[in-house]
Amino acid sequence: MRAILKKHFGYEEFRPLQAEIITHVLARRDAVVLMPTGGGKSLCFQLPALMSAGMTLVVSPLISLMKDQVDTLQANGIAAAQINSAVEGAAIAKIKRQAESGSLKLLYVAPERLAMPSFRAWLKTLTVSLIAIDEAHCISEWGHDFRPDYRTLRTLRPDFPGVPMLALTATATARVRQDIVEQLRLRQPQIFVSSFNRPNLSYAVRSKRHAFPVLVDLLRQDSHASAIIYCFSRAGTEKLAGKLKQCGFVAEAYHAGLDSDTRRQTQERFIRDETRIIVATIAFGMGIDKPDVRLVIHYDLPKSVENYYQETGRAGRDGLPSQCVLFWSFGDVMKHRFFIREIADQDEQHRVEEKLHQMVQYCEQRSCRRQYLLNYFGEQWAEINCRSCDICLPSVAPDVASTLAPTFDRELFEKLRQLRTQLANQRRVPPFVIFGDRSLQEMATYYPQSLASFARLYGVGQRKISDFGPQFVQLIRRYSAGKNIDELARPVWRERGADPADVFSPTYEETKALVKQKLSIVEMAKRRGLVSGTIMGHLEKIHLADPALSLDYLRPDSSRLTKITAAFKKSGGLSLSPVRKILGEAYSYDELRLARMFLRS
Ligand code: ADP
Ligand code: MG
Ligand code: ZN
Repeated sequence: MRAILKKHFGYEEFRPLQAEIITHVLARRDAVVLMPTGGGKSLCFQLPALMSAGMTLVVSPLISLMKDQVDTLQANGIAAAQINSAVEGAAIAKIKRQAESGSLKLLYVAPERLAMPSFRAWLKTLTVSLIAIDEAHCISEWGHDFRPDYRTLRTLRPDFPGVPMLALTATATARVRQDIVEQLRLRQPQIFVSSFNRPNLSYAVRSKRHAFPVLVDLLRQDSHASAIIYCFSRAGTEKLAGKLKQCGFVAEAYHAGLDSDTRRQTQERFIRDETRIIVATIAFGMGIDKPDVRLVIHYDLPKSVENYYQETGRAGRDGLPSQCVLFWSFGDVMKHRFFIREIADQDEQHRVEEKLHQMVQYCEQRSCRRQYLLNYFGEQWAEINCRSCDICLPSVAPDVASTLAPTFDRELFEKLRQLRTQLANQRRVPPFVIFGDRSLQEMATYYPQSLASFARLYGVGQRKISDFGPQFVQLIRRYSAGKNIDELARPVWRERGADPADVFSPTYEETKALVKQKLSIVEMAKRRGLVSGTIMGHLEKIHLADPALSLDYLRPDSSRLTKITAAFKKSGGLSLSPVRKILGEAYSYDELRLARMFLRS
């Protein structure tokens, strides 16, 4: 199974529960899978599909979700297709022939299609190895996203009595779970529940006073990172998007008041990395599986913890560090109450008010945010310190993922990113279908010089080696030759419990050796062919990991350090931009960042 995982998907290890679920499905038994967004549910039916004779049928509620998954599978060389209202008749006929010939491994369909008797009859003539119901909570009226079309799925069991069924969802209360089992008529299903903790997400609550400059700061941390900003009202999204545009950001508003074409195009541009920032009401998000959203910001207070968890869940599906920041003011509670007062049904009014109250508690409490979220969903959280919320680690906000992001060669990363966009446009697929950010980051860390070493990287499977390997390796070789950089050996990645610092250790070790020679930052950057910001990142990590190693020779001149220290105090935080604003141009970002290390120690 591991060999197939690497060969087709380029991954080395299973995520928690994936191997168990796949084994269970291959034994042809029913199951319900409850895993948070980004947990890796799709693989639980995609891998068995490749290992079984016949075709796996996947039911998915939204055309956009289907399309992304099918594009991604095809880029991995897997025979997958979709049939829905967006696919033309001629194309459908071709897909049907492919299915009849037995060469199609996965067929994605919308529930409406399954309601058509002729389609159903055709399906029954095929060998179906597995039926996967994605977003299975849509079948339940008790869920937040009920879709009447999902009701037609009740007749799947009698129509396909011998085929195992797998229901998957990220949101299920006990009631919804029971409903899924009953409606789909699952047979003695095993229920797999994984932890809902999202270890790569950091959580922070910031005061809403002066929110805009803090927001701008957050967005400037990484000039390419995709971000979603949630606002309370349609007018609010338009206004904020306008302000961001004035500051030079590529931002667009998205809400239910826009016509469906505009909405679809906005969503498409976001997925293709053309629009970096979406300012949305909650109408945005359900239809996208974009794996590299690095920031989810709540500019206004969400109405419940469920909503908050779900919306923040859209960050960091690819497992890379991502931030969730909420701007909090009591004034927002009043806005919600205004609408709550309009609710006629007393019980309902009470229930909604209670949910809001729990959201307020989240903002006002002084204990771990992650713990609160997990407890809310009935999960025990044993850790005393999560090390990635603003309570457990005050410096986490808003300047996190400079201290937490794995370091890599930014300059090369940008070049790789351009190549990715170019290939994606040629093939008319979203960039993440070519390679995810983590794959590019590994390229910009290990500088593979041959296809053999390229093949070891995260997310590089058989098909991607042959389709994209030569171009990427060529770019990396040219880049590293120009800078005299050698390839680094990539250690074996361990998905769980692995400290990113361990994984990237060779690069740190090299910088550390240069520190021992007491080289200046500029010299280190030159020797290593990296930009000084990257070296600075290494120093921060090395300093945290090995405080015994003296960096004293890099300490800024004492009168400047005193001024910088005073400015940090005045700013009340550890972010660089406010301090730069106080001190002005005479102090470079590099110097402030360096000084910050000496503040901490
Ligand atoms: P979900 O449906 O649970 O929200 P997805 O199936 O979309 O999650 O997976 C989220 C991301 O994780 C995808 O980019 C997927 O390719 C990746 N992924 C899944 N399984 C693994 C794995 N075993 N190792 C590494 N990445 C994985
Ligand atoms: Mg999914
Ligand atoms: Zn915490």
